[in-house]
Amino acid sequence: MTTSSNAIAKTTENFQGRTHEILRQLQQNGQLKLLQTIEGPMDATVKLRGYGDVACFCSNNYLGLANHPEVVQAGVDGLRKYGAGTASVRFICGTFDCHETLEKTIARFYGVESSYSFTSCWNANEAIFATLCEPGDAVVSDELNHASIIDGIRLAVSIKKGLLRGVYKNGDAKSLAAKLEELRANPELTGTLWVVTDGVFSMEGSVANLPELRAVCDRYGAMLIMDDSHGTGVMGATGRGTHEHWNMPATKIDYFTGTLGKALGGGAGGYIAGSREAMTLLVQRGRPTLFSNALPATIACSANRAIEILEREPQRVAKLRANVAAVRAGIRKAGFTVLESETAICPIIVHDTAKAIAMSRRLLELGVFVIGFGFPVVPEGHARLRVQVSAAHEQPHIDALTNALIKLKGEFDK
Ligand SMILES: *Cc1c(COP(=O)(O)O)cnc(C)c1O
Repeated sequence: MTTSSNAIAKTTENFQGRTHEILRQLQQNGQLKLLQTIEGPMDATVKLRGYGDVACFCSNNYLGLANHPEVVQAGVDGLRKYGAGTASVRFICGTFDCHETLEKTIARFYGVESSYSFTSCWNANEAIFATLCEPGDAVVSDELNHASIIDGIRLAVSIKKGLLRGVYKNGDAKSLAAKLEELRANPELTGTLWVVTDGVFSMEGSVANLPELRAVCDRYGAMLIMDDSHGTGVMGATGRGTHEHWNMPATKIDYFTGTLGKALGGGAGGYIAGSREAMTLLVQRGRPTLFSNALPATIACSANRAIEILEREPQRVAKLRANVAAVRAGIRKAGFTVLESETAICPIIVHDTAKAIAMSRRLLELGVFVIGFGFPVVPEGHARLRVQVSAAHEQPHIDALTNALIKLKGEFDK
C-alpha cells in the first residue's frame, strides 16, 4: 500500500521535476518564448500590451483583410444569422449553407471541381494523407515542409500500415526523382505515388519550383499536393498562388491545401481543393471532420467575403508586391542580408537564437514588431528575424521598419 502510493507520488514528481528543468534551461539559454498580447484588431499597426502602438511586421495578414470592414461585417452578419456555431460535426447536422457557399467560392477561386473546409489547415493536412493514401502507396515530402504536413504523414503512416514515405532535399527536383526511382524499385510499392510540397516555404520565404516538380511527377505517374498557405493571396498576378506565379494552370496541381488564417481574412480554418470524388471521400472518412466540429459560421462568412474581395481587387496583390520590394530594399539599406525571393516573407539570418530574440525585443522598444525564430523552429545556428509584409502597410510603416533596423545594426553588429 505504502510502496504503491510512494510509487505514484514519484511519477508525478518526475513530471513536475523535468518540466521545471526544461523551462529553466530554455530560460537560461535565452530561448524561452514569451507571448505578446495585442489589445485590438490585427492591422498594419497593432496595440501591443506594454508597448502601445507598434508597426506589425510579423503577421500573415498579407492582404490586410483581417480588419477589413466588409470582412468584419460578413462575420457579424454570419453570427446573427447562424448563431455561435454548429454544435455538430459536418456529417450529423453541422453543414450549413454558409459552408456550401464558402466551399463553392474556394473551388471557383482555384478553378477546380470542389473543395472541403476544415477548422484549420493543420486539420486539413491531418485529413488528406490519412484519408487519400492507402497501404502500398508512398508519400514523398520536401524536407522543409510545414510541421502539419510532417505530422499529417506520420499520422497516416501509423494508421495505414504499409504506407511508405520518403523525404527529398528542399526544392530539389533531382533529389525527388532519385527518391521516386528508389521507391519504384521497392516491391512494397503497389499503389499510388504522392509528392507534397509547400508552395512558399514559411521560414525561408523561398518558392517551390512547381514546373520541375510537375515534370518529375509526370515521369513517375505521381500525384502532386501543394500546401500554399503562404502563397495564397500573395503569389501570381491575381494572388491565386504559387502555381499562378509559374503560369501553371491549377489543374497541374492534383490537390491544394491551404489556410483561411493568413491572407484570406486571417480568422481560422483551412481547406482541401481538387476533384469532387476525393472531397466526397474526405466527407466519408476524414477523421478530423467526422469527429470534430465544423468551421464556425461567422468564420465561413468572413473568409468567403475575404476571397470575394481578393477576386474583385487584384490591385491588393500588386500593392503587396510593391511593399515587399520596398521592405527588402529597406533591410538591405540597413546593412542586413535578406534571403531573396518574391514572397512576402523576408528572413534576416542572425544565426544565434538568443541574439534573434534580443534583437526582436529591441525592435519592439523601437516601435516595430518583428519576431525572432530560433531552434527548434529552424535548425540550430540558423536563427533569424522574420519580417513579413502586408498590403496594409503604408510608407510610414516601412520607414519605421528601415529606421529601426538601421539602429539595430549599429547596436548589435558593430
Ligand atoms: C500556417 C500554415 C499551416 C497551418 O495553418 P492553420 O490554418 O493555422 O492550421 C499549414 N501549412 C502551412 C504551409 C502553413 O504555412
